[in-house]
Amino acid sequence: MKPFLDMESVRAILEGRGGYPVSVYVHVPFCARRCRYCDFFSVAGAGERVMEGYVERVLEVLEQMFVLLRPSEIPTVYVGGGTPNVLPLRLWERLLTGVRERVRVWGRPVEWTVEVNPEWVDEEKVRVLGEVGVTRVSLGVQGLDEGFLRLMGRGAGRREVERAVEVLAGWGGRVSVDLLAGRPRGMSGDVVRELEEVRGWGVGHVSVYGLTVEEGTVLGAMVRRGEVVMPGEEELAGEWEAICRWFGERGFVRYEVSNFALPGEECLHNLRYWRLEPYLGVGPSAVSTLPGKEGPVRVRQVRDVGRFVAEGGVWEEVEVIGPQAFLLEWFMMGLRTREGVEGERFRRVWGVGVEEVLGEVGRRWCGWGVAEMGESGVRLSEHGLDILDSLLKDIAILIWEKQIGKPLWP
Ligand code: SF4
Repeated sequence: MKPFLDMESVRAILEGRGGYPVSVYVHVPFCARRCRYCDFFSVAGAGERVMEGYVERVLEVLEQMFVLLRPSEIPTVYVGGGTPNVLPLRLWERLLTGVRERVRVWGRPVEWTVEVNPEWVDEEKVRVLGEVGVTRVSLGVQGLDEGFLRLMGRGAGRREVERAVEVLAGWGGRVSVDLLAGRPRGMSGDVVRELEEVRGWGVGHVSVYGLTVEEGTVLGAMVRRGEVVMPGEEELAGEWEAICRWFGERGFVRYEVSNFALPGEECLHNLRYWRLEPYLGVGPSAVSTLPGKEGPVRVRQVRDVGRFVAEGGVWEEVEVIGPQAFLLEWFMMGLRTREGVEGERFRRVWGVGVEEVLGEVGRRWCGWGVAEMGESGVRLSEHGLDILDSLLKDIAILIWEKQIGKPLWP
């Protein structure tokens, strides 16, 4: 069994490297039931006592980590899951007020997002969002076709979704919607038609994720048994093209592989994550990437709700990320976004220019028309984003052959 790290061990790795802006993610690991396709870490059917223990622990760890890191500011906060709003009102209020109290010590975040599932949205919980200063809600719709939602084991049907949209309309903050594309064959739901409906709700940000069949999920077993047939590559490419066209014609920018926003509606928290800005994740299974004494460090909190509740500050993985691996990640994350890898920051952190690192590979991409590269950095075209994975293979080989110095991060 792997040794677990306690607060003292994490302190020893991170101490003395604080004083920079840190984004905060709080993982709420509870769901009413497990959707058939999902492999995120969450538990279904937890009782109120466990949830209460979790809320107190999360607030405690958050406070301890802030004291350790002494952030210069907390620009963004994201409370995700799981299903954060499955918490009963009393605990929902306690969690969000507790997060606010602890964050506000370090200033007011520019953006605070909370993920919610439609069937657990109600007026009282939405009132709390307004009171604590949440600025953005991410609504997990996933689809509007009843057959598809049922097949996926989602807790909300069309009626619950419409009701949630109605309640959130009176709230005044920004709303983002998640949808799933690449649905099994034979589903009557059409993502583009659903987008028309979503647009009618006045939403300025939509994330469209491709449904993936993960090992160990119910959907995985259904596909293996032939009960569900997934679409082929050509169908997927055709659907994706139609989705991108739909957004483009309505002024939405594809600012990341799966994320579309009207100008000014982008999720700042996720942008900071893709830019590899320091990031603190608290709650079972949550990951942090933070500057440590030996270089960038990644730590993951224990993937066990019971243990987290019993012990709080307990981590199960720690990794000092070597310069090559971190540089590769820098490109993997940055190139997912429309803004790409920004040149000036790259030079400051890595001591060399993007062009010097990418060299022939970057020039080849530019020749193919899938990227633009210059002093200001490197960014992919729309088509480049579609073939991101194959482009990243070129970079991986290139980076592993290079001598890279320690990054001056953040
Ligand atoms: S609600 Fe979200 S986190 Fe929970 S099982 Fe469904 S997809 Fe996974």
